[in-house]
Amino acid sequence: MEIVDFIINSIMTCLFCKGKSVKYGLYKNNIQRYKCLGCNKTFSETTITNVHLETNIRLVLHLILAGCSTLDIADELGLEEKIVIKWKKLYIKM
Ligand SMILES: [Zn+2]
Repeated sequence: MEIVDFIINSIMTCLFCKGKSVKYGLYKNNIQRYKCLGCNKTFSETTITNVHLETNIRLVLHLILAGCSTLDIADELGLEEKIVIKWKKLYIKM
């Protein structure tokens, strides 16, 4: 599986029951909303809009491979560092 798909799939895992979720429209501020097929709860991936998600993942992985620190990458891309760390962990796990 391609790493970008892998991370997107991981993000789409329900925060509450770890079930599979599907895209479920957008919040008013254009944030992608997901709905869990297991428990029917809805949630979003922090402040990242789905439009930019794939681009951001590619950039983050590129910068990780280039040896940048997670804090530098977060600053550079305007993301929260915890998100960069999460993607890095998923990348290493794969
Ligand atoms: Zn759930």
